[in-house]
Amino acid sequence: MAYITLKNINKIYPNGYHAVHDFNLEIDKGEFIVFVGPSGCGKSTTLRMIAGLEDISNGDFLINGNRANELGPREREVAMVFQSYALYPQMTVFDNIAFGLTLQGVDEEVIEEKVKKTAAILGLTDYLDRLPRALSGGQRQRVAIGRAIIRKVGIFLMDEPLSNLDAKQRVTMRSEIAQIHRETGATTIYVTHDQTEAMTLADRIVVMKDGYVQQIGTPYELYFNPVNVFVAGFIGEPPMNFVREKMTKGVIKFGDNTIDLNKLLGKKAAQYEGKEIIFGFRPESIELTAEHDGAKAVAQVELTEMLGDNTNVYITAGEDKAILKVDPHDTPEIDTDFTFYIPYRSMYLFDAETEEVIPTEAVQ
Ligand code: ADP
Repeated sequence: MAYITLKNINKIYPNGYHAVHDFNLEIDKGEFIVFVGPSGCGKSTTLRMIAGLEDISNGDFLINGNRANELGPREREVAMVFQSYALYPQMTVFDNIAFGLTLQGVDEEVIEEKVKKTAAILGLTDYLDRLPRALSGGQRQRVAIGRAIIRKVGIFLMDEPLSNLDAKQRVTMRSEIAQIHRETGATTIYVTHDQTEAMTLADRIVVMKDGYVQQIGTPYELYFNPVNVFVAGFIGEPPMNFVREKMTKGVIKFGDNTIDLNKLLGKKAAQYEGKEIIFGFRPESIELTAEHDGAKAVAQVELTEMLGDNTNVYITAGEDKAILKVDPHDTPEIDTDFTFYIPYRSMYLFDAETEEVIPTEAVQ
């Protein structure tokens, strides 16, 4: 049985705004789940309903198979880490971490032992006597996490915990959160708008848009098998390239290039004949020599960005634009023609009306 079940969960705010529509998810014990999507898509609302901080308008929330909609936050055995660390400024790191246990009247010796153990996991042992203002942003966030994990709760909730940190601290803290999860094994639900955080941390990702779940899957599934244009464009950096073109005889134009989709579409080619189709390929999936069966393309180089480990090449082919990721040693000159190959196995096709993926034949 799933540890946590969300069944047709809806949130309609008192002003009538329907923020979350029919959210369905089963979470196993120990899983690291990430809710990801653009700002305003309903991630925090869903997390707050799980925390018991927001009423569930409709649907069932179960813990261990028992309905928990009406339970208060404390009875749900959840701990939450927010974007703002919400530390007590006049208390030391030790007292901040100990706070929940002190409130519960836990024995002082037990508190001391638990705080020390938690501080050791978080690398805060040398800072226990300090006040929050004498800590870096990353250290403060670790204290906030410590305060949450010291209570042996069932569910650990995190709402954009890294957004107040600078880029470098975010990367460090991200791997620390993964490490803490490995050590504690706590069931975790983590909210972020950042697809990289989602991809690197999650066992499974829930992609949301406008209050609707778009897809639930492992990072691998979302990257290789996105169900629609939104997920395909949201996961991956730079995003997937999309070309919207009318298909004639199973062929679309990409600038002056022709891309024959018959092999991919098989029998479905007839269904899309004469219709617009959305053709997608990832910047990193192109080849400079045709290693796999695919399509050849020639395009004009508009701009290049040398990033060290790769170069982003911005190209135009007629009206169509795309970004390609190449080895820095293959960086082309601006304003020249650039030839590349798109393997069939890295092509994605979407219905232009529904924006849903069109399942294709496997071509190697
Ligand atoms: P996210 O976490 O994905 O950025 P939220 O869950 O915070 O999104 O918000 C989802 C939507 O619900 C947004 O459009 C937001 O403006 C709206 N919303 C959030 N809180 C309230 C509220 N108390 N009353 C009405 N609408 C709200």
